[in-house]
Amino acid sequence: AVDVVTFGEAMAALRACDPIRLGGTMRLSVAGAESNVAIGLARLGHRVRWTGLVGADETGELVLRTLRAEGVDVTHARADVRGPTGLILFERRIGDLTRVIYHRAGSAASFLVPEDVLPSLDPPPRFLHLTGVTPALGPGPAAAVMAAARSGVPVCLDVNHRPRLWDRDRAAGALRPLVPWLSVLVASDDELELVAPASATTELDRISALLDAGVGQVVVKRGADGADGHTVTETVRAPARRVPVADLVGAGDAFVAGYLSGLLDGLDLAGRLDRAVTTGAFAVASPGDWEGLPARHELGLLDSLPGTTLR
Ligand code: ATP
Repeated sequence: AVDVVTFGEAMAALRACDPIRLGGTMRLSVAGAESNVAIGLARLGHRVRWTGLVGADETGELVLRTLRAEGVDVTHARADVRGPTGLILFERRIGDLTRVIYHRAGSAASFLVPEDVLPSLDPPPRFLHLTGVTPALGPGPAAAVMAAARSGVPVCLDVNHRPRLWDRDRAAGALRPLVPWLSVLVASDDELELVAPASATTELDRISALLDAGVGQVVVKRGADGADGHTVTETVRAPARRVPVADLVGAGDAFVAGYLSGLLDGLDLAGRLDRAVTTGAFAVASPGDWEGLPARHELGLLDSLPGTTLR
């Protein structure tokens, strides 16, 4: 069995060096919240499976080939002729502000149904990682998320709200029903209200309500301010690692990969958060969503003094 199964939409990604309307050079890569987490876990030596539908096209081949090359199991993923592989464009507009443009409506991935994902959970992995992006892709993907969440495998959910795909009310309507099955919840501070009961009005109330509802671990991401983790017995804060910012996109996914890695390794809450802010910092300090994520032996690199050359 693998350690972690995750599924969702992985897309071809084009990164523009200049404003897109001016033309110029773009770099082709792969993006997707769940595939980013899968790559992050594989780099740290964990056995991880990503599944989902790509188009029967060259960008679909790029997605699967990239994941295979990174050591991610894609035996349950397949190409589907009903739609193309989704496409995401990243445009660095000013400074580190990135604008995202989607061409993913009607993509192959939006045809995902429960039958596509349930076989990938047999034999059961230690964790199932889901994100709030997948149920936004359509009724089939939403049903797949719900069916997988109910499979009995401990679930980690990253809320990952995407306002371009749906509004907050619809997201909350789809995500709150997942709470009874969550073992780990990861959310940005402004996303807690999308999963906590509407009756909770402060952040503390929301965290308590989620723990009371049986969520084992509530982890709140706070960007450059780091993160904190909450269980019924403890609360731990972890400051962000100070790194030069190259590209903020993908920090959250890298953070989740680090957190899950710590969980698989049996680290305590402080240790899990420490690994999460470390992998998050690797993502921030390197261009691309996942390209700069660390192998296990590289986790200590951030402790090197500035300007170090490793010879
Ligand atoms: P995204 O959706 O862009 O992937 P996110 O909003 O899900 O990101 P953030 O809270 O921005 O997630 O970042 C996740 C983690 O990455 C933070 O908790 C922190 O540990 C790390 N991180 C984010 N920004 C920075 C930064 N500027 N410097 C260092 N670490 C950072």
